[in-house]
Amino acid sequence: MSASSAAAPAAPAASAAPAAVAPVRTAGGAILLDGKAVAARVRAQVAAQAAAFSARYGRKPGLAVVQVGNDPASSVYVRNKRRASLEAGIESFAHDLPADTAPAQILALIGRLNADERVDGILVQLPLPVATDTNSVMDSVDPAKDVDGFHPLNTGLLAQKRPRLRPCTPWGVIRLAQEYGIALTGRTATVVGASNIVGRPMAQELLLARATVTVCHTGTRDLRAEVERAEVLVAAVGRAGFIPGEWIRPGAAVFDVGINRTAAGNLVGDVVFDTAAARAGWITPVPGGLGPMTIAMLLANTVEAAQRRKGLV
Ligand code: NAD
Repeated sequence: MSASSAAAPAAPAASAAPAAVAPVRTAGGAILLDGKAVAARVRAQVAAQAAAFSARYGRKPGLAVVQVGNDPASSVYVRNKRRASLEAGIESFAHDLPADTAPAQILALIGRLNADERVDGILVQLPLPVATDTNSVMDSVDPAKDVDGFHPLNTGLLAQKRPRLRPCTPWGVIRLAQEYGIALTGRTATVVGASNIVGRPMAQELLLARATVTVCHTGTRDLRAEVERAEVLVAAVGRAGFIPGEWIRPGAAVFDVGINRTAAGNLVGDVVFDTAAARAGWITPVPGGLGPMTIAMLLANTVEAAQRRKGLV
């Protein structure tokens, strides 16, 4: 059945909670999910919490950002994260290591950061150089300081319905939905992409929110049919224009996590925006959607880690 069929069931209803950010409609008619505006609200809340923490303990919450090598995209992300930390009143500890750093040295650095009282959060920018075993590095981060939410303990807790530090991009999707009053309970949700850092934790977050969740990946037989059923769609594949707008269910909430650079140098998502916005009820832009939300949730996780380490939450 085509998504354009009149038989398509109702789209997600808005909850009773008022939308905190004034809704703006795209030319296509969908409400634009303004990640920049919501991220600014989250960052302001984090700054207030960070200031209260500093006043009480005489030091700012601390975030160590570790980058190995100088992948240009990673360097941009790391710079943005460090700048956003400082603006929110979070101390930023920079650790830039050469690409050929021995794995034992990376593990030794993580060990020192785990033991450093000033450090509440540790972020290891991915991807790591191919010669480095990413799992062993991520597993070595103290779960109490794992502000990316990638440690098996934190992903396991999320899967067991008792989330602690939650992966930033999926957590950002949930926060964005909450801010716009998009109800998730009972909705048919499809996640396209099944990576450890986005797709899988996204599915767990949607399940926690009591949506009925389907996860698509390279083994999925009929992707179009799965997308067409989705009242809530999260795209996290990493291929420009991978999901045509014609596949979007009328009224759906579309969260486009993909960040892809075109030959012309522009950033675009995984969903074809203009045609999707003509059918969706809500849609995130790229850039300006989950990118800023991801950084904001990282800052929120850092303050939460600091508070948890002091037994405050
Ligand atoms: P990944 O490459 O690890 O995973 C991609 C997933 O897509 C895989 O699970 C794969 O099975 C699936 N996939 C690939 N081809 C497919 C196909 N033909 N049909 C169905 N599924 C298919 O990527 P990732 O790290 O999860 O990132 C995905 C995208 O999200 C990238 O563009 C990345 O840059 C972006 N991203 C954005 C943010 C943000 O802050 N907004 C954060 C993380 C990742």
